[in-house]
Amino acid sequence: MEIQQVDLKRQYASIQPEMDEAIHGVLQRTDFIMGKPVEEFEKAYAAFSGAKHCIGLASGTAAIHLALAALNIGPGDEVITVSHTFIASAEPVVYLGAKPVFVEVEPDYFTLDPAKLEAAITPKTKAILPVHIYGQCADMAPILEIAARHNIPVIEDAAQAQGSKYHGNTAGTLGLAACFSFYPGKNLGAYGDAGALTTNDDALAERVRRIRNHGRQPKLKYEHFEVGYGERLDTLQAAVLKVKLSYLADWNEKRRWVAARYNSELEGIPGLKLPPLRPGCEHIYHQYVLRTEQRDALGSYLQGKGIHTGVHYPMPLHLQPAFKYLGYKAGDFPVTEKLASTVLSLPMFAELTEDEMGYIIQNVRDFFKA
Ligand SMILES: *Cc1c(COP(=O)(O)O)cnc(C)c1O
Repeated sequence: MEIQQVDLKRQYASIQPEMDEAIHGVLQRTDFIMGKPVEEFEKAYAAFSGAKHCIGLASGTAAIHLALAALNIGPGDEVITVSHTFIASAEPVVYLGAKPVFVEVEPDYFTLDPAKLEAAITPKTKAILPVHIYGQCADMAPILEIAARHNIPVIEDAAQAQGSKYHGNTAGTLGLAACFSFYPGKNLGAYGDAGALTTNDDALAERVRRIRNHGRQPKLKYEHFEVGYGERLDTLQAAVLKVKLSYLADWNEKRRWVAARYNSELEGIPGLKLPPLRPGCEHIYHQYVLRTEQRDALGSYLQGKGIHTGVHYPMPLHLQPAFKYLGYKAGDFPVTEKLASTVLSLPMFAELTEDEMGYIIQNVRDFFKA
């Protein structure tokens, strides 16, 4: 048996006629830039996440970049985020000349630890960017409470959290704005790079709409009100995303079903920790992440059995060569560093079969028996 960590071919096979038709529609209309599907997808995604506005963008990185740009963040400013994440959570801070400041994560839920947040806030802090890592929301209530007390906006990095819920509210409506990635492997994935920003704030939405498209006002093609960016969502990707969005709730439900089986059949193995559910939250299992001191050995054992796993992520941001200039050192964030050496992501996608799940579970059990 050969099982990918995420298998995009099966998903395409399950929706091929509808998808091919949507793509052909764009080719026939040749409305490649800001075509009809862009607006249609934005409306549908706003409705899906319960946000007033959705602005389609070129990637998740662009969504974070434009959210921070729209807040006028620049040189001398600081933005707080976590070190246990993908580098794109912090890169846009640097694009704007500002400084990323890292905060420790909660040992159980892997997201920004609200108890460690206040100590990182300074008069220079201009935004707080919690990451809903693996598809489960950060503990937004205390984060928002602390941020409000200091009058600092909260921007969600919801790149891994399309449809994830926190006490009944969907990711994308929890902070001032939320940044989504539709990288192909995400729960809602394009056939290339794509992203979006959601917000309930009219002024922020208008600014992001303008700066994604070279600072243009919508009806004046060659009149530029400010210097912007070329970070639009392209029409082909919007058409792809529109087809897939109608299946997303179902796919997320299937992922929860896979996770439930992993949870029940891998429970109680000494030396193996399963990913806990935060009370009041609905996980979308972008990743199903085990923790074990024998992470590398387990990964190679499963690889030998044809089971592909992933490590998200092996090196925390504060120890990355790219961020050496920030002056962090090993030992600064013990929980984060421990995660980097112990996390392992099992295969996780909606089309996993019962037989494959059984095979994966059996092999994990065999590894720990030996
Ligand atoms: C995928 C991802 C991003 C970046 O998204 P792109 O669409 O690849 O630019 C940002 N943050 C997190 C947490 C991600 O997982």
